Amino acid sequence: MSSIARVLRPAVRRGHGVATRVSSASPRCIRPSTTLNSQHIYYVLRLQGGASIIRYANHNPHRLRPLSATPSRHTDISGIPPTPITHLSETEAAMQDAVSKFASEVILPKVREMDEAEQMDPALVEQLFEQGFMGVEIPEEYGGAGMNFTSAIIGIEELARADPSVSVMVDVHNTLVNTALLKWGTNNIKKKFLPRLATNTVGSFCLSEPVSGSDAFKLATKATETSDGFKISGGKMWITNAMEAGFFIVFANLDPSKGHRGITAFLIEKGMKGFGIAKKEKKLGIKASSTCVLTFDDVEIPKENLLGERGEGYKYAIGILNEGRIGIAAQMTGLALGAWENAVKYVWNDRKQFGQFVGEFQGMQHQIAQSYTEIAAARALVYNAARKKEAGEDFVQDAAMAKLFASQVADRVSGLAVEWMGGMGFVREGLAEKFWRDSKIGAIYEGTSNIQLNTIAKLLQKEYTQK
Ligand SMILES: Cc1cc2nc3c(=O)[nH]c(=O)nc-3n(C[C@H](O)[C@H](O)[C@H](O)COP(=O)(O)OP(=O)(O)OC[C@H]3O[C@@H](n4cnc5c(N)ncnc54)[C@H](O)[C@@H]3O)c2cc1C
Repeated sequence: MSSIARVLRPAVRRGHGVATRVSSASPRCIRPSTTLNSQHIYYVLRLQGGASIIRYANHNPHRLRPLSATPSRHTDISGIPPTPITHLSETEAAMQDAVSKFASEVILPKVREMDEAEQMDPALVEQLFEQGFMGVEIPEEYGGAGMNFTSAIIGIEELARADPSVSVMVDVHNTLVNTALLKWGTNNIKKKFLPRLATNTVGSFCLSEPVSGSDAFKLATKATETSDGFKISGGKMWITNAMEAGFFIVFANLDPSKGHRGITAFLIEKGMKGFGIAKKEKKLGIKASSTCVLTFDDVEIPKENLLGERGEGYKYAIGILNEGRIGIAAQMTGLALGAWENAVKYVWNDRKQFGQFVGEFQGMQHQIAQSYTEIAAARALVYNAARKKEAGEDFVQDAAMAKLFASQVADRVSGLAVEWMGGMGFVREGLAEKFWRDSKIGAIYEGTSNIQLNTIAKLLQKEYTQK
């Protein structure tokens, strides 16, 4: 049993929801009556929000929308006292404490060395498994920690505070690979692979190719059916974790005549004949995270390595990446906080100019305060998206907004943090410059910022277009 599972299992069994660790004091929000449901509350807030909002209400008097974007199931929550979105259950709080301790004691001392070497320390990967961080949502019967999605998100955020490279390894493994198997794996697939993914085998998610990045479903990798399984030929690009991974979810087109409706998901294991790693990329940031080009030269796989249904691969990829984006948003939020903390320690404790700590100049303090506020806003978007996903609500727009905004905040805050530290922020002795380099990837992978904006705009237009 993993250590996180040992620590957390009693709390998991109690099966409580949010806010068990926190005080039950009512939040100071506008709450006219506890018997009002969420729509009424929004109505009051909107009336207090000013003329433009009232005009909108007049424009469409039948439906006042909550600001949290995508349409939600209207559950009656009148009996539940509203709690701040950042309040955690006992299980989630234990996860946060455990990961935070591990990150500062075990990861932090290795960060600079791994970045310079452009390699993840294999001993650290083993420890991530031992701690239970690689099987957060995998049920206990398969050797995982059996925790919820928000716990995984919190873990990813905490890891990124120390090292965004370690964070993305855990993120891809948990939110893309493990989740895909949990959702679409047969019982045999689950029994065969989940115990390994929870304890010793890193996973990769292989969608992108040289010809298909943002236009992901134009992929050229092909699958053909054989008498006893499938043959995969083609290649993938930009595959995270590929150097460390033993297990790969690969999207290939089984019937190109059907276009994207031919895309199917397959499971490939390292060592299968015809599978190769052609190149490891040298990157600007998250250098310790491996990113590779993969080749499939007629890789023969057994028929039981088909994941889910033929032709459903594009739906699986869309669905899983929607969830994965919350993970990347969490990574970027943790990164921003790590960069902010690293810098404020210096400007408020170490560096004096003109007879005072440089962080005491008002020009600095305002930037520091603004940055922290932006980090808190990013976190609120991330946790809200995670909670909506867990509640079974539509979270696509929320996930896109969280990823878009958190990656912008990470870029902005980590860039400012370099400046706050002056020359010390620019040299490779500390972590300031690394956080900034690492932040750039947030606007690229799992859908670029433009792609997130496309998604947000498309959903908004659909919602606000008169039928
Ligand atoms: C470090 C790293 C790790 C990665 N890990 C993985 C992984 O594990 N698995 C995986 O499958 N993939 C992975 N990727 C791939 C990643 O998801 C793609 O890089 C990303 O989707 C963008 O694709 P692209 O690089 O081809 O950019 P392009 O699609 O070529 O985009 C170039 C520019 O054009 C813009 N653009 C493109 N289309 C539109 C549009 N419709 N509207 C407006 N603007 C547009 C983009 O926003 C971008 O600014 C990784 C990439 C990197 C760099």
